[in-house]
Amino acid sequence: MSRKLADKALTLHWMPSLIKAQAIMDSGVRLAVRQESLLRGAGPACGNSCGECCSSRRAEATAVEMAGALWSLRRGASESEAKALDQFMAPAEPVSRGCPFFVDGACAVYSMRFLSCRQLVVFGRSCSPNEDPTRTRRADLLTPLRLHAYKAYSLLLPHLGVSTPPSDPLELEAALKARLNPVGDFSARVAATLLVAHGTGAILASQRAA
Ligand code: SF4
Ligand code: SF4
Repeated sequence: MSRKLADKALTLHWMPSLIKAQAIMDSGVRLAVRQESLLRGAGPACGNSCGECCSSRRAEATAVEMAGALWSLRRGASESEAKALDQFMAPAEPVSRGCPFFVDGACAVYSMRFLSCRQLVVFGRSCSPNEDPTRTRRADLLTPLRLHAYKAYSLLLPHLGVSTPPSDPLELEAALKARLNPVGDFSARVAATLLVAHGTGAILASQRAA
């Protein structure tokens, strides 16, 4: 990342909350994986070269997470990042299935992947082609630690119009549900709006002009 963009990132007021939310979620997932691996007698089946879950599932994200993913695509100029951005901003056909950031068998926004992606871990066996494990094998899914997930999403809510995140788990889940959308449903028009709203518009504009 260039120094210029790194400095710019610091002006994005929501970025520290997003980074902290990701760290909390990752730590909860690590803990849950350790506990569940002991109970199941084997570790997760997910591997580095897996990707069926990205091409078969409708991942969900909040607008803040989308802004983070789009921001990450503008940091560098790798071929996959450029391709992912094109795929997202101007898909050849409406994206009804799979994630627009899945490029050439890998996640183009890996460091900024969504909280829902971070929680998706399966046990038993790796996924078959076109298998969405959230539909086919719920019993094999990692049970995320709710406390970590709540804490992580609660950090994002103030940037999504909820100034005081509810402490009641049911109310929190309802607030979240209303703000989580399938990634493919964020159209280029909506993305442009949220980029401006979340402060990354300046980055996109400066990159286009470059
Ligand atoms: S959920 Fe399935 S496809 Fe995704 S990483 Fe795990 S085993 Fe691979
Ligand atoms: S953001 Fe990355 S990890 Fe998540 S569904 Fe898309 S390609 Fe997969």
